[in-house]
Amino acid sequence: KFITFEGGEGSGKTTVLSRLSEMMKKQGSPFMITREPGGIEIAEKIRTIILDPANTAMDGRTEALLYAAARRQHLVEKVIPALKQGIHVFCDRYIDSSLAYQGHARGLGIEHILSVNSFATEGKMPDLTFYLDIEPEKGLARIEANNGREVNRLDLEGLSFHHKVREGYHMIAESFPERIIVINADRDIETVVEDVKGHLSVTLKG
Ligand code: C5P
Ligand code: MG
Repeated sequence: KFITFEGGEGSGKTTVLSRLSEMMKKQGSPFMITREPGGIEIAEKIRTIILDPANTAMDGRTEALLYAAARRQHLVEKVIPALKQGIHVFCDRYIDSSLAYQGHARGLGIEHILSVNSFATEGKMPDLTFYLDIEPEKGLARIEANNGREVNRLDLEGLSFHHKVREGYHMIAESFPERIIVINADRDIETVVEDVKGHLSVTLKG
C-alpha cells in the first residue's frame, strides 16, 4: 500500500512516521519510509534548490514545477519499484502538499497544480492519506520548542500563509473524503500515534 502523511509545519508527521516504523518492524511487514521533496539523490538535490533561503527570487510556478519534478523522480525511482515488490511505502508529503501550499496558499490554483501533478505522477494517487491537522500557531510553537530543523525559504512566510495552507488542506480533505483521514494532531503524541495506527491496521489488512 502507498500511504502518505500530510500536514503543516510542526504537525508531527516525522515523529508519527518514526513511531510507525517501530510498529512495522515488530510486525515484520515489509515497509519503507521516505519523504518528499527528496528521498533519492536527484530529488534531494531539487529539494536543496527549492528550500534554499537564498533563492528569494523563485517564482511560484517554478517552485510548483520543481516539486512536481522531484515527485516524479522519487515516484519512478523509489516508490513504484518498492510497491511492485510488495513493500508498503509510507511517504512524508506527496501531492496534497503541492495542492495546499502551491495551489491554495500561493494562489496558483488547485486545478492547475492538480494537472501539473497528474502529468508528473501519471495519476498515481496514495491508497490512504493521513492529514495531521493542527492550528499553525501551535505547530510553529512546537518547531520553536524543538529548535532543531533546517532553515528554509518557508521561514520567510508569515502566519497568514500557514493559515491558508491549513485552509487548503481542509478543502482537499473534503474533495477526497474516501482517501484522506483527518487526524486531530493537537493532542499528545501517544494519542495521535494510536489514532493513526488504528486506521492503518485496517488498511494494511485490506
Ligand atoms: O516536510 P518538511 O517540513 O520537510 O518540508 C520542507 C519544507 O517545504 C516545509 O517548510 C514545507 O512547508 C515546504 N513545502 C512547501 N510546499 C510543498 C512541500 C513542502 O512549501 N509542496
Ligand atoms: Mg517533518
